[in-house]
Amino acid sequence: MPHTFGWPAILPRAIHKTLKKLTPLDPWFEVYEVSDGVLAIVEPFHFEETISFLVTGGERAVLIDTGMGVGDIRAEAERLTCLPITVINTHWHYDHIGGNYQFRDVWAYASDFEVGKIERGMTVEEASPRMTPDRICAPLPAGFDPRAYEIRRCTVTRRLKHLEQIDLGQRSLVIHHTPGHSPGGICLYDTRDRILFTGDTYYPGTMYANLERGDFEVFFSSMKYLASLVKDVSFLATAHNECKVPAAEILVALKGFEQISAGKAPYTISDGTRMYKFDRFLLEYPDRR
Ligand SMILES: [Zn+2]
Repeated sequence: MPHTFGWPAILPRAIHKTLKKLTPLDPWFEVYEVSDGVLAIVEPFHFEETISFLVTGGERAVLIDTGMGVGDIRAEAERLTCLPITVINTHWHYDHIGGNYQFRDVWAYASDFEVGKIERGMTVEEASPRMTPDRICAPLPAGFDPRAYEIRRCTVTRRLKHLEQIDLGQRSLVIHHTPGHSPGGICLYDTRDRILFTGDTYYPGTMYANLERGDFEVFFSSMKYLASLVKDVSFLATAHNECKVPAAEILVALKGFEQISAGKAPYTISDGTRMYKFDRFLLEYPDRR
């Protein structure tokens, strides 16, 4: 089930055509400037359309997620900044941690479940079914064998707390714990440009409350929490599909979650999963009855 409606015909995304585009080292990636010192490293040619972000301060840089592990994201990031790079994962899912093994400093939220999953990675048997030809719409990088696709192990070197502030020099990132999609999921708030990096807690497309240890009511609470932050947010930098999204979409998503919680939203059922379709997103929710 793709994260989006209409992939790959929808490429390139309309919002991306409005942004300054940088030439990547590897055409597997697309690189867009979303703000001064903030670059989106997009992987549009796998249906997940994962987006990692490189945030550069005066003294160091943070790479928010490391993508799918298909292209060499460390080489991309190191070409875009000469500052030391720390990785911060928004959560453990494979499409956000694929390049972790390339970095010495990998930080994540202080959840034993989340850290354990990030450090373990995925075996070829678990990961390679996600790299089938129907999920890919462009040539893979030279030397990448989809049948040998795995998520390599890494070490999480620091555990982050809710509201912890990471100083990059002239800008900081504040950690916001937003569980529901995943128990140790986080959003990050950039204090200089007021950008909210939402990870998988919100993006336009298919969202999931039905993955391992996901929980709709917890997700709903996180959406209410994010709505309380929106007045101080200039835009959302989301981890799939569109790298720059109006902040007010959080309020629209919250209305959808409220309707679902109140039993007032229509849905269809497929394979034991409820599908709640809204204008900009679809939520998959386990049908437990
Ligand atoms: Zn995810």
